Amino acid sequence: MTRVDEVMVPPRDARCFEVRAGQFFRITGVDGPQVGDLNLWNAHDLSERFFSGKTRQLHATHVSTGDRLWSSLPGLRPLATITHDTLDWYGWDEDGGGVHDVIGTRCDPYTNHLLTGADYQHCCHSNLTRALVAHTGMPPEQAELHIHDVLNVFMCTGFTHDTHQYFMKASPVRPGDFIEFFAEVDLLGALSACPGGDCGSSHSDDSTPCYPLHVEIFEPAPETLDGWSSPPASGYAGKHGL
Ligand SMILES: [Zn+2]
Repeated sequence: MTRVDEVMVPPRDARCFEVRAGQFFRITGVDGPQVGDLNLWNAHDLSERFFSGKTRQLHATHVSTGDRLWSSLPGLRPLATITHDTLDWYGWDEDGGGVHDVIGTRCDPYTNHLLTGADYQHCCHSNLTRALVAHTGMPPEQAELHIHDVLNVFMCTGFTHDTHQYFMKASPVRPGDFIEFFAEVDLLGALSACPGGDCGSSHSDDSTPCYPLHVEIFEPAPETLDGWSSPPASGYAGKHGL
């Protein structure tokens, strides 16, 4: 593979990146343990976006190599397939925790305000909104509506054994760890370096150490894609009995 582009996502902020169908993108930890919140869209139609809930239903609460990131209805096709994950050794810990979850949505200023009464401007929801505004030029109130539930890259989460409540704990990610994806369709991506850092202590404030995340885009040798084609949208006729 040949690297064709790269984006460095600053701590407590987000950046957009574009990946063409048939290319790969890789998210790598640098400098310190850091969790990322990933949004993906069909680059030609932002209404087709990553569908966290359906991905959870089709695969598991946490995803790794071979799992696919499915798109919203009515498209319901794989947007990307995970091709490499240096944290696949983690598996499930004694608390029931795993990494790369599709259970925890994204941190947002509304929930933070509900829980603490404070206004914080660098939650992943806000970071992703600012990145989409900067990349597309669309108005903030329009861009915000495109932000959706994420793949929590590198994040270590689960549900407690006794009461089945969501928990997060410090991510095992270390500098150099990466997760890599194959783009099944032309993609617009946005990645936020979460203000929770490794998500092992405080969240939605500026007290936790945070680090950048590195996004790299790779082009494979052309013959390696012989016989592959970008997946079509769902074949369902869309009549709904009407
Ligand atoms: Zn976050």
